[in-house]
Amino acid sequence: MKELEIYVHIPFCVKKCDYCDFLSFPANEKTQREYKNALIQEIRHYGSIMKEREVTSIFFGGGTPSWLDCDYLVQILEAIKESFTIRKGAEITMEANPGTVTERAMKKYFQAGINRLSIGLQSTNDDELKLLGRIHTYDQFLKIYTMARECGFTNINVDLMSGLPYQTIDKFLKSLNEVIRLKPEHVSSYSLIIEKGTPFYERYRFDDVKQHAGMETEYLPSEDDTYRMYKLTQSYLKEAGYMQYETSNFAKKGLECKHNVGYWTRKDYLGVGLGASSLINNIRYSNITSIYDYVMGAMNIQLLEMPEEEKLEAQKQKLQSIYSNLHESVHSLSVKEQIEEFMFLGLRMNAGVSRDEFQENFGVPIESTYGSVMDKLKKEGLLKVQAGRVFLTDKGSDLANYCMAQFM
Ligand code: SF4
Repeated sequence: MKELEIYVHIPFCVKKCDYCDFLSFPANEKTQREYKNALIQEIRHYGSIMKEREVTSIFFGGGTPSWLDCDYLVQILEAIKESFTIRKGAEITMEANPGTVTERAMKKYFQAGINRLSIGLQSTNDDELKLLGRIHTYDQFLKIYTMARECGFTNINVDLMSGLPYQTIDKFLKSLNEVIRLKPEHVSSYSLIIEKGTPFYERYRFDDVKQHAGMETEYLPSEDDTYRMYKLTQSYLKEAGYMQYETSNFAKKGLECKHNVGYWTRKDYLGVGLGASSLINNIRYSNITSIYDYVMGAMNIQLLEMPEEEKLEAQKQKLQSIYSNLHESVHSLSVKEQIEEFMFLGLRMNAGVSRDEFQENFGVPIESTYGSVMDKLKKEGLLKVQAGRVFLTDKGSDLANYCMAQFM
C-alpha cells in the first residue's frame, strides 16, 4: 500500500504569543466543538477516497492541540483510525503547551494511542517566557513533563528557542543544560525569527535588520552571539548523546521525528484542518484559512453523500489527486519544481539526499542535473558525496542559504 502521513491542524491557543505568526487564535467552546465536527467530516471524506493508502504517522499540530477538549482530540483520532488503514506502530505525535494539560487529559492521550509528545517550552527562564508572551512558567512545564513520563510517554520532544531579546549566551546555556538534564528523547532548537505582523516585529524590526547586517544591536543578541548559540547547541547536544539530523532537530538514536523526516523526504502527506497543506502525488494543496468558511465547507463536502458506485468511479477518476471544496489553492508541481524541492528539503537533513532516490524519482542521475553545481560546492568545501548520499558539510550548513540557492 502507498504510504501517507496525516497532519491535523488545531488552530486554537489560549492567547497569542508575541512572536507567533502561525494560524492560531483563541476560540470559545462552541467554535471548538464545531471545528472538531468539521475536522471529522473532512477526515471521513478523505478516508473514503484514499482507501489505497497506509498511514505511517499522524501529527496533531497547531496552535495548541492540548487546549482542545481532550475528548474532542480523542474523537478526531478515532475518526482517523476508523477512516484509514493505520500502520502498526505508527508514530502519533501531539503538540502540548504547558499550562493546558490536566492529568486526566494526559492519561486519555496515552490511552488513545498518542505515542509521542512535543512540548513547547522555549526557555527555562521565566523572564524570557514572559517576554515571549508564553502562558506558562518553567515550573508548569516541569509538571507536565513529569506527568507525561508517569503516564507512560517514552518519546518526548522539547522545543527551545535561542536568539531572544536580551538573551546572553550564558542564559541560553542555562536553558539548554536544564533541558539536557531532563533527558527528553528529542530536542528542537530554533533561532527566533522576527515575523511581520507580530508584536515582536513592531518592537524589534530595526534591531533585526541591524543583526542581519552584522551591526551593533540594542535588544537582540548580535549576529556573532546567535551563531555561537547555534554552535554551542550542536556541541552540547552531541556531547549529551543527541544526533543532529536536521538544521534545528536533535534526537537520541532512532528517535528522529518520522513525520518531519517524511516532509523533508517528500513523502505524501494529507493535511486536514484550517489552512493545512498537503502533498499528494506531486500536487500541493492548501486549505482555506477562514474558520467560518472551513466549518461550513466541511459540513457540505459532497462526496460523502454519493452512492457507493459513484464514489468508486470518483476514486478512479481522481486517483492522481484529491479534491474538496476546502482547498484555497491547488498547485501541480512541474518536474523542475519537484527536483528543486527534493534538493532543498533533503539538504536540510544531515544525511542529505540519496543518489539512488534521485534516479528513481526523476529517471536521471543527479549529476546530469546538478553535476557542475556539485563540483563547485565540493571545491568550496561545502558539499560531500559519500556512500551514495549527497550532503552539506558543516561549513556548507553554516552557509545553507548560499548552497541551496545553487540548486534553484
Ligand atoms: S502557543 Fe504556539 S501556536 Fe500558539 S500562539 Fe504561542 S507560538 Fe503560536
